[in-house]
This record gives sequence, C-alpha cells and structure tokens, in this order.
Amino acid sequence: MGIGDHLRAWPVVRQLRGKDHLGLGEAARSQRSATLAPRIEEADRVVGSICPFCAVGCAQRIYVKDEQVQHIEGDPDSPISRGRLCPRGSSTKDLVAGPGREYKVRYRPPGSAQWQDLDLDTAMEMIADRVIATREATWQDLDAEGRKVNRTLGFGSLGGAALDNEENYLIKKLFTALGAIQIENQARI
Ligand code: SF4
Repeated sequence: MGIGDHLRAWPVVRQLRGKDHLGLGEAARSQRSATLAPRIEEADRVVGSICPFCAVGCAQRIYVKDEQVQHIEGDPDSPISRGRLCPRGSSTKDLVAGPGREYKVRYRPPGSAQWQDLDLDTAMEMIADRVIATREATWQDLDAEGRKVNRTLGFGSLGGAALDNEENYLIKKLFTALGAIQIENQARI
C-alpha cells in the first residue's frame, strides 16, 4: 500500500476531501465494512411475528433461510414498537433456536432426582388426571357458614407476563369453569 492509499484509508482525510464533511457516512466507513453485507440479505423469506417474552407485544420480523431461523429483529411497521426490541426481545433467536432449548416434555417424579422424557399426550393426560382428582377432593358446595359457593381452593392459576390478552382471557374462562377462584397474573402482582 503506497502513501496515497494510507492517506485515503484515514477517515479524516476522506472527511475533508469528500462530500461527507461531518463524517457520518461514507467518510467513516472502513474498507472492510464496505465489503460486508447484512446477513438478512440472504434470507429466503421474512415472517411477521410478535415477541414472545412479554405482553407489550413488540412486533418482529423473522428471517428464514433454508427453513431455519436466521435472524430476528424489530418490525419498523409496528405502531407499538416501531422497529425496537428490548434486550430480551433482541435475544429471541436464542430462545427459539438456541442449544439450550428443550424440545421434549421433562418430568421429575416426586422424590426423584432424575428427569424423564415424556410424550406430550402422556403429560397432558397426567395433568388432566391431577386436575380432576384435586377438584373432586377439594370441591366445596357450601362455605363454613352454609353459603353456596360451588368452588375449589385446591388449585389456582398464576400466569406470567409473557401471556397476552387472549391467552389470559382463555385461562380465566377455563379456571373459572373448573371452579377455581385463585386466578392471578404476575404482571398484576
Ligand atoms: S420483551 Fe421487550 S421486545 Fe419483547 S415484547 Fe416485551 S418490551 Fe417488547
């Protein structure tokens, strides 16, 4: 590289000699960064989605290449978030495709130190059996003063802030129909 090339590689020279006098664009760009391209340019398609972490509901663009999630970033068309994601939302790719993600139902029997893999149907049956048994064992027609209550205090629901309005609506319906009255959400607590 000659002396002229060295000078041209110096950003302040480009800033003074070129059109970018404030050094906010072309002048500040290195030769290496000029050769780089965003990885989303190689995506096969872009899928609109919502951040799964909290009920703010920031919109996301999911870039897919070879049927794999390649990148996830904020959607500038969203009136809620206008392209922004907080640090949790920015880490969504690790949530959905990171090496620590569990793909099977894990079950640790009472008293055991070992986890077992369960298929989803088996796990759902186990949960349903426990709900039915607990409801039958703890059902109250009347309270201690003889007032009609038709309820169970044997189980309740505690939701997380990742639940959205529609999910909370359905959870409230389900648990109220089962007779539960202890229905709460972490976002309200
Ligand atoms: S976790 Fe962050 S990015 Fe995701 S919805 Fe909530 S505020 Fe938005």
